[in-house]
Amino acid sequence: MRYSALKVLMEGLRGHTGWKPAWRDPAPQTDYDYVIVGGGGHGLATAHYLAKVYKKARIAVLEKGWIGSGNVGRNTTIIRSNYLLDGNEPLYEFSLKLWEGLEQDLNYNAMVSQRGILNLCHSDAQRDAYRRRGNAMILNGADAELLDETQVREMAPFLDFENARFPIKGGLLQRRGGTVRHDAVAWGYARSADSYGVDIIQNCEVTGFKIEKGAIKGVETSRGYIGAKKVGVAVAGNSSRVMAMAGLRLPIESHVLQAFVSEGLKPVIPGVITFGAGHFYVSQSDKGGLVFGGDIDGYNSYAQRGNLPVVEDVLEGGMALMPMIGRARLLRMWGGLMDMSMDGSPFIDHTPIDGLYFNGGWCYGGFKATPASGYVFAHLLATDTPHETATMLRLDRFRSGAMIDEKGAGAQPNLH
Ligand SMILES: Cc1cc2nc3c(=O)[nH]c(=O)nc-3n(C[C@H](O)[C@H](O)[C@H](O)COP(=O)(O)OP(=O)(O)OC[C@H]3O[C@@H](n4cnc5c(N)ncnc54)[C@H](O)[C@@H]3O)c2cc1C
Repeated sequence: MRYSALKVLMEGLRGHTGWKPAWRDPAPQTDYDYVIVGGGGHGLATAHYLAKVYKKARIAVLEKGWIGSGNVGRNTTIIRSNYLLDGNEPLYEFSLKLWEGLEQDLNYNAMVSQRGILNLCHSDAQRDAYRRRGNAMILNGADAELLDETQVREMAPFLDFENARFPIKGGLLQRRGGTVRHDAVAWGYARSADSYGVDIIQNCEVTGFKIEKGAIKGVETSRGYIGAKKVGVAVAGNSSRVMAMAGLRLPIESHVLQAFVSEGLKPVIPGVITFGAGHFYVSQSDKGGLVFGGDIDGYNSYAQRGNLPVVEDVLEGGMALMPMIGRARLLRMWGGLMDMSMDGSPFIDHTPIDGLYFNGGWCYGGFKATPASGYVFAHLLATDTPHETATMLRLDRFRSGAMIDEKGAGAQPNLH
């Protein structure tokens, strides 16, 4: 069923009796050509592109909970492609281009809103670093503008420009960045993948891998054994636990990241704004809530809930940047499980086990990468060669020394 304005009108006239479920609820088959573990944004996008672009069939996505229960439905919805390094920027710019056509591709309203993202700078050195990053973005085909203090004042007059400790000196603006309704991305990819024949199997936890003579044969699940020629794992914050079942140890730690939403306010925040002197970022949802977040909780955890000291820390960042936020009441908060890699960059690679592939290490930033991550993972699964935008996202890069450390921060997850 295609969604359209005419369809909405027709259904309105006949009492909305003709809508069908957005995707089927099939029982697992005994075997598939491709099994994707994890029904988050990346797993569902992988299945969609495998079927649609690479014309593969007999594909299943196995999700231990329900579609959208992981980070794809827990993030703060920001999309952008403002990276510095060649290992990252081509992938994120590819992703932003896919976002720009996503709703037409999926025939689904994901509320893609290119309202801009502004990274504030607070020192001359930081402005120099932003200028360098902006130039790298432009060289990779992205858009970037360096704003001075006057231009930032015009755009966001409510910021604290009198803060002597963190003076606002300007900012790096990417107008094509913005926000997308996060869970609609999961639903849109699920619906589209299903329409190409992909089986989306919820409440199906992968509990083990069957590996013989160094090659994958299938997966053990809470709903029985499922054979597979190729298995792609995209389980975000559960990466270390799932890959340990295949005997692999990853350069990834799991940490909690929290998100916060205020009560609904009249429109005040023009786009996404990030504080350059601390961990704080904010945007405003279409319903009016200020959506904001900051640092990870800072210790390893598999809990999908956060702790109060980080709430205080994030709100301190908000108060330093825009004191008027102190008058808004907090409505909701939650936590998600981050797969923090040791250089802050992801992995999309085959593993030493034939037929087993891994996608993870997305840190805070995997939502914006969802379309490209799915596309290039599908490319890898279908062709056994890395996509041209993901050639450096190798699992052995810590052995080879080819790390992709965007911020030059070293193996410090809370600094990425
Ligand atoms: C609070 C917060 C804010 C964020 N803000 C942003 C942002 O603004 N912009 C941005 O780009 N990124 C952001 N991120 C990061 C982004 O959400 C993630 O990097 C991205 O969603 C991860 O990919 P995913 O959608 O596939 O993950 P998930 O949705 O977590 O999908 C993984 C799935 O695997 C399933 N799974 C796990 N183990 C198994 C198993 N054994 N068997 C079967 N299934 C299994 C899980 O249930 C889960 O559904 C944020 C994250 C959080 C938590």
